[in-house]
Amino acid sequence: MIPYAHEPLTDFSNEQNKQSFLESLDKVKAELGQHYPLIINGERVTTEDKITSINPANTEEIVGYVSKATQPLAEQAMQAADEAFNTWRKVKPEVRADIIFHTAAIVRRRKHEFSALLVLEAGKSWVEADADTAEAIDFMEYYGRQMLQLKDGAPVKSRPGEYNRYDYIPLGVGVVIPPWNFPFAIMAGTTVAALVTGNTVLLKPASATPIIAAKFVEALEEAGLPKGVLNFIPGSGGEIGDYLVDHPRTRFVSFTGSRDVGQRIYERASKVQDGQIWLKRVIAEMGGKDTIVVDKEADLELAAKSIVASAFGFCGQKCSACSRAIIVEDVYDNVLNRVVQLTKELTVGDPTTQETYMGPVIDKNAFDKIMSYIEIGKQEGHLVAGGEGDDSTGYFIQPTVISDVEPTARLMQEEIFGPVVALSKAKDFDHAIDIANNTEYGLTGAVITNNRMHIEQAREDFQVGNLYFNRGCTGAIVGYQPFGGFNMSGTDSKAGGPEYLLLHLQGKTTSEAL
Ligand code: GLU
Repeated sequence: MIPYAHEPLTDFSNEQNKQSFLESLDKVKAELGQHYPLIINGERVTTEDKITSINPANTEEIVGYVSKATQPLAEQAMQAADEAFNTWRKVKPEVRADIIFHTAAIVRRRKHEFSALLVLEAGKSWVEADADTAEAIDFMEYYGRQMLQLKDGAPVKSRPGEYNRYDYIPLGVGVVIPPWNFPFAIMAGTTVAALVTGNTVLLKPASATPIIAAKFVEALEEAGLPKGVLNFIPGSGGEIGDYLVDHPRTRFVSFTGSRDVGQRIYERASKVQDGQIWLKRVIAEMGGKDTIVVDKEADLELAAKSIVASAFGFCGQKCSACSRAIIVEDVYDNVLNRVVQLTKELTVGDPTTQETYMGPVIDKNAFDKIMSYIEIGKQEGHLVAGGEGDDSTGYFIQPTVISDVEPTARLMQEEIFGPVVALSKAKDFDHAIDIANNTEYGLTGAVITNNRMHIEQAREDFQVGNLYFNRGCTGAIVGYQPFGGFNMSGTDSKAGGPEYLLLHLQGKTTSEAL
């Protein structure tokens, strides 16, 4: 088997790649507006009520319709998954991994098609969409290989006259609830981690981005995933999300999304229901309020570039996005000026155009929420770049920089999930780390410094799950930078890391007297 290496990103300066991406965009556009059914036990189920997926860059354009599960349909899906678990759990790990590798090959062959769909459904720029698809492939290649490493369990000792084994066995039915911001990578990663470990899955895709999920489920079926193992049930959180989280046959919930929803799932899942014979596991990846700290001995150009790229890539709609920059006062003005300059160079517009750096934000709710934070920001600091929004055709917001914000201000504490970065001044490096830690989250952070001792200090004291030195704070790569945060950022899981699959397994000890 070829050792795991991450999927290369596409070089769009190459004319052939560019042409092939444009062709994929045309192909996907020609297929817009189709209907996608639920998939329960391999059967297509069409419902009256639909979720409409719209293009956030052009709200008149309908990407597609998906049928919407009701509680009785969610119940049917649960029963199918429960039943399928009896056989899927006994399918050899090698076979399960092969299905996932085959799916990765299918996606790789049609890579630009998936990415083009992400451009239209999520409003991603070409580069961001390409990275999302590459990461989906990475999760499949990585978790498939991880399963092969776990298939024989872990070593334990045996004394004379006994034979001991320690095996990893799957848990049961998992409810997978992925986010819209990495609608391919995280949706595929969380689904595949559950499947390859021998669990069966109810996949409830994000309501803003269900079509990419429907396409992925088709690819898994094409690769030979048996019916009932993965059930596709788009629907609303209120109607089927709570129902499935509460269900006594749900064994685990794998969620990525907002802090509020994550906390709600964690609380509900902790309640033991009538007939339930286990304590549910919850794997939750939640929000972030991520900080880049700039030291006075630092490459200031690198600092400004890192802040801008981490704050505004995919409009700041990453839980890893830099939403706070804390700059030691000696270099504050220099960094601020350069951040403002670089921000003003960014292009906002239709993401189907290759040159667009930032497309729209995901929907009207996001637009309104971000615009209201910009208003708050104007009170709490100085608006030095951006600030404007336009939702006449799509949900566009200019990349926005607010300077001179107090560490306790709302802009420095609350997750905005949009293209807004707040800049704050620190007296010295110690002070900067204190401000950085002054949040209930603990997902990503970065330190830009040339001072070795400060790197070591941050390594110990900067409380985040992913800490980066002399680079930005987004863009973790599967198998290279396992991703997940502390505190209110989640349950301390690390997606794309060596322990992730174990969250979907339980250890079984067998001891035989010889
Ligand atoms: N893994 C992504 C990154 O490192 C962020 C994932 C997310 O936003 O949920 O940028």
